[in-house]
Amino acid sequence: MSPVRVLYLAGSGRSGSTLVTTVLGQLPGFFAAGELRYLWRRGLVENRPCGCGSPVADCPLWARVRADLPDVEPAEIAGRLAQRLRLRGLPALLRRQRRGQPPVADHPDDTHLTRLYAAIAEHALAGRSDGVIVDSSKLPPYGALLGSLPGIDLYVLHVVRDPRATAYSWRRRRPLDGRADDQLMSRPPVGKAALLWLVWNTATVRLWGGRRAPGRYLRVRYEDFVADPAGTTARIAGFVGVTPDALPFPSPATVRLTPTHSVAGNPSRHRTGLVDVVADTEWLTGLPTRAYAVVTGLTAVALTRFGYPLRRPAATSPARDPAVSPSPATRQEG
Ligand SMILES: [Zn+2]
Repeated sequence: MSPVRVLYLAGSGRSGSTLVTTVLGQLPGFFAAGELRYLWRRGLVENRPCGCGSPVADCPLWARVRADLPDVEPAEIAGRLAQRLRLRGLPALLRRQRRGQPPVADHPDDTHLTRLYAAIAEHALAGRSDGVIVDSSKLPPYGALLGSLPGIDLYVLHVVRDPRATAYSWRRRRPLDGRADDQLMSRPPVGKAALLWLVWNTATVRLWGGRRAPGRYLRVRYEDFVADPAGTTARIAGFVGVTPDALPFPSPATVRLTPTHSVAGNPSRHRTGLVDVVADTEWLTGLPTRAYAVVTGLTAVALTRFGYPLRRPAATSPARDPAVSPSPATRQEG
């Protein structure tokens, strides 16, 4: 069987990867799987909502995938996976990679992970050889793990967003699965959010950037994606070798979203219908001066590398929140 093509969105949290994943999932041959590293815990154990609205256990697609994994205990896989992906393991992982060794050691669970992606390709992409699974798990060590699996053909899309914007986004309280959910998304203090941004984005560059993974690494800034959604989407599709016949943009700043079957991720993955793609610039005026200085100071070198200014840019348009909002011209569908 040929390996399964996986487009892995790597980087830090709150970088707009949910929007990018949902948009890519509208393209023929692309399956927006969401954050698959959470499938075991949040999907199969906690039975949280799929992108289609059904709890994962009731979603016909994930039921077919689950049936292909009869001998796995999701809670155990989730526990072991979390152990393998701990932050403290990152230095050793990068050290092995620097020495030219496989960055991730083999593990008995790898056969289950390989079977999971093969089952998704089979049921969500009808086994089409040019199909692409979009996995927005983001955590670089999990991407490195996927890259080590023989059944996976990995492409890394590094989505970067201004860390002052992500720090501002982290400050907002947001239920994990929409308003009815009493479990909140994690909300680290601003300094910790900045350091995590730095660690994950630097690790992503170290693992795949430069000449480390020729033809397998593409960096896209969230700000550039919202400035030109259609052009950026076409560029990402081209990166994985696909020329889409049609793109889901009725106008330059509007996207038509149909439900996906994505698991985990930002609650905005449940948004469907005609949706405006607008830059979320509330942080420009909303992030306090001290927090701005803390984040800028901690991330200065990387800011310059990714082309962000150190000084606070002037807010040029009215602040809009969230990053995607229902189009005023058309009502949300479904
Ligand atoms: Zn579903």
